[in-house]
Amino acid sequence: MATDYYAVLGVPRDASEEAIKRAYRKKAMQVHPDVAGDDPQAEEKFKTVQEAYAVLSDPQKKAVYDRGGDPLHSSGGGGFDPFAGFQAGGFDLSDLMGAMFGAAGQHGPRTRVRRGKDQLVRMRISLLEAAFGASKQLTLDTHTVCEACGGSGTADGSTPTTCPSCQGRGETFIVQRSFLGDIRSTQTCARCAGFGTIITNPCAQCSGEGRIRTKRNVTVQIPAGVADRNRIQLPSQGEVGPGGGSAGDLFVEITVSPHEVFKRDGDNLEMVLRLPMTAAALGTTIQVRSLEADNPDYPADQAEVAVTVPAGTQSGARIAVKGRGVPRLRGSGRGELGVTVLVQTPSKVNEEQRILLQQLAELRDEVSPEIVVGDAGTKGFFSRLKDSLG
Ligand SMILES: [Zn+2]
Ligand SMILES: [Zn+2]
Repeated sequence: MATDYYAVLGVPRDASEEAIKRAYRKKAMQVHPDVAGDDPQAEEKFKTVQEAYAVLSDPQKKAVYDRGGDPLHSSGGGGFDPFAGFQAGGFDLSDLMGAMFGAAGQHGPRTRVRRGKDQLVRMRISLLEAAFGASKQLTLDTHTVCEACGGSGTADGSTPTTCPSCQGRGETFIVQRSFLGDIRSTQTCARCAGFGTIITNPCAQCSGEGRIRTKRNVTVQIPAGVADRNRIQLPSQGEVGPGGGSAGDLFVEITVSPHEVFKRDGDNLEMVLRLPMTAAALGTTIQVRSLEADNPDYPADQAEVAVTVPAGTQSGARIAVKGRGVPRLRGSGRGELGVTVLVQTPSKVNEEQRILLQQLAELRDEVSPEIVVGDAGTKGFFSRLKDSLG
């Protein structure tokens, strides 16, 4: 045996088809006369690499070679031509380019088995659910593995047959003649769509796709503290890929419905409290309803929040109650409950009340009050109020 083809490509004798192909591309790139520069042996080396691959990539020739025969010259033919057609082990320019530019993996037949796409669905939840978390059911319009064929796409356990147009390569050659010689390029085989095989006996349930469109129920765990527009990622809960490929991820985008009492501001809850003028002046402690009150399962003592209004509270003052806002999505604890006080001036008074107010005005020397123009001391009040009343 003149040449050790395994040594030429630098692969062990039990190398896989794929390993041989990889080794060939690497070698061909190193010794190609256009690349190797002025090595006078380049052409000879290149030819040897071509020979080695022509033999080792062809199961029949490889078998002859492994038995000690000479598969290239035994027939007494005119030797080996590296620029003959690819099936004879010829050299393909696009293969070399692919090896050089890292696109080699795109060659050869593409697999029918592909990962499913990620899926995005939107889900509307209440502020209560966003704040304290929930477990929600979702009906998903998606792809699942075809149970009739187990994802193979073939009927009755049959196997796809090799495409006669491309002999399983998944691509066909186009040869254009130019004054520099033949320029060869490849295109996806139209007959097999690049798979290299044809399903002649497709599964009746999925028409050969290996998956079917169906509805599936998914349980989504909403974490406490999730906010409007947040996306929850559920790995491998998206649609199953063609050919029984693994499922993509499911993304659930949250929309939080507006609440009639509470507004959310980050981890804080904001509310407006209307308070009689006398209570604001004298000070008081009042029980206001909490967000937890939306859930009847919460303990009664959680359904209310005690808000202490100091004497002399102005309209627009914000009273913060620590720890009664929204649980933090990351980290621990809760934000605060902000209570903005809106002091209510009596709009209807009876005669007795009018006299009392008159007496109060005289006592406070406010019968002809000093007029203060401007909004000093109420900074942010109007915008906060607007926000809170939303
Ligand atoms: Zn084909
Ligand atoms: Zn099927």
